[in-house]
Amino acid sequence: MTGKTTTHEFKAETKKLLDIVINSLYTERDVFVRELISNAADALEKFRHESLTHTDVFDGHLPLEIAIELDDKKNTLTITDTGIGMTGAELEHNLGTIAHSGSNTFLSQLAEAAKKDVSLIGQFGVGFYSAFMAGNIVRVQSRSWDKSEGHEWLSDGTGSFTIGEMPGLRRGTKVIIELKEDAKDYVQKWKIESIIKQYSSFVSFPIKLAGEVVNTVQALWTRNKSDIKEEEYSEFYKFIGGAVSEPMYRLHFSADAPLAINALVFVPVENFEVFGFGKVDPGVNLYCQRILIDQHSKNILPEWLRFLKGVVDSEDLPLNISRQALQDNALVAKLRKVITKRFLKHLDEEAKNDSEKYLGFWTTFGIYLKEGATSDYEFQKELGKLLRFESSKSEPGKPIALADYVLRMGSEQKEIYYINGPSRAAIEAGPYVEMFKKKDIEIIYTLEPIDDFVLSHLAEFDGKKLVSADRADLSLSKDEEETKIDETTGENERLDKDALSKLTEWMKKLLETSVSDVVVSKRLVDAPAMIVNPDGFMTSSMERVLAASRKEHGIPGMGESKKKMEINPGNPLIKKLAALHDRDESFAAEVARQIHDNAMIQAGLVVDPLAMVERNYRILSRVVEG
Ligand code: ADP
Ligand code: MG
Repeated sequence: MTGKTTTHEFKAETKKLLDIVINSLYTERDVFVRELISNAADALEKFRHESLTHTDVFDGHLPLEIAIELDDKKNTLTITDTGIGMTGAELEHNLGTIAHSGSNTFLSQLAEAAKKDVSLIGQFGVGFYSAFMAGNIVRVQSRSWDKSEGHEWLSDGTGSFTIGEMPGLRRGTKVIIELKEDAKDYVQKWKIESIIKQYSSFVSFPIKLAGEVVNTVQALWTRNKSDIKEEEYSEFYKFIGGAVSEPMYRLHFSADAPLAINALVFVPVENFEVFGFGKVDPGVNLYCQRILIDQHSKNILPEWLRFLKGVVDSEDLPLNISRQALQDNALVAKLRKVITKRFLKHLDEEAKNDSEKYLGFWTTFGIYLKEGATSDYEFQKELGKLLRFESSKSEPGKPIALADYVLRMGSEQKEIYYINGPSRAAIEAGPYVEMFKKKDIEIIYTLEPIDDFVLSHLAEFDGKKLVSADRADLSLSKDEEETKIDETTGENERLDKDALSKLTEWMKKLLETSVSDVVVSKRLVDAPAMIVNPDGFMTSSMERVLAASRKEHGIPGMGESKKKMEINPGNPLIKKLAALHDRDESFAAEVARQIHDNAMIQAGLVVDPLAMVERNYRILSRVVEG
């Protein structure tokens, strides 16, 4: 090194990360070779892409390749690439910080994950630091394609690194690892060769080991399906997905018209967002004629398919398109539509072939499809087929498709009904399902807060409207008979018309601030009362979610919409309430308010707990007094 050298501290989270890498991950050391090769390949891809639009590049004549040199005298392993290189500032930034937001939770999660599955480190952008698993000292000599002078970065992986100028370098990056005492076997050619075969055989540039090319450069996705072996698919998936397990599903398809497409996408077995890493980056790369033009492309698939891993290649795209231009390119939008529809169709076929396996997929990735159904109108029809929910006729824990529901519908039923609740048991004990049970009409249970948004966005399925059972205007069939005579007592089972209208008028006045109306129910069988939604769009569950999010973001309430209350004229409590009203109006008011609060709770809506508990005690006191 010549010229001035500066010393820099690693950022605090980088230090922690290095600590994890050096002390917890050393048992899986081989991984560092893969990480460094993958960085070299990324740098080569970036250079290849830039050189399509820039003629004026430094060292333009160099072949695009990766070279690995082993020295058993000095105990070093050197990986050289002729990629895009790094300036001094880039060395400082890229190799001094963590690409991902390096919060403490991220790191502790990583430490946990690393104990279970070391391959995770490649997925979360901490790859370079794996060099310290095997190296005492790591030097990175790099020269950018922009012609600026080269620099050397050097560190022993503890607290700091130095950067100094280094003239005379060629374009690209050389990583020199001085191997630790117990990592000296990495100078053996057979060992490195077997690691490359295992992890890096799909790198799309030649990898030379001691002067010999050891990989076969190929673009699997452009080959004929029938010529590809299962192991090749599996290796390819592990390579691009940074995975150790087999994928859950695979879709490989090619089309010539209307667009030329070669796509190979995989569904992994795990949903990484549940590890607490936040939104994962999209996992599908966009190629044109085998040249990478957009890695982790945000454009080629909708955001809610970010869990997919794979490759899309289209010859129709202009090779020199910039990443910004991809965003509003009409052709990209068309590709996105075609590939998304094809993928959703594939899922539907998989579900038909093996519904058990599909339920596994649904449990892991269903949340993404729900996200799609609430955000993307373009694919509603396809997504509707893929949704799964429990219902009054499904086995607990075995959700069904809307199509199953439609098959079971009676000929006179025109709508698909659903109701939200925290659990199957809570829904089945509540008032909303009573009439459905009595009439043997199936009702879908939406158990997640997002579900009602999904179904209300979907609006209909197979030509049948999707209707929440807490709607005020719900009519299940012709009105029930007005009066029934109890056969044993000869008593009128229901309150008579006059008594009823007197009672509802009074209750309406009493509860004026919280309900818009009190009406006689045509649906209640056992429960005394229930809350229903007059506006027909928002369900109580949706309202609860929105209120919670307003609270979280400190947005003042917009005044919740007023509900309607239905009362059951055949219920003994309601009948006795009418009588009590005539005797003791103030106590009847306490009871009526309590009935209202109970119905609100059954709707999952908020009541004032203090007022309710106090009232409840007053009522109980009266009861024990006798
Ligand atoms: P990731 O590859 O996931 O971004 P790494 O820790 O492996 O994370 O690398 C950090 C960054 O350092 C890369 O994003 C890249 O900008 C830079 N880098 C690493 N190796 C090279 C290389 N061989 N050539 C150019 N840049 C590199
Ligand atoms: Mg990397």
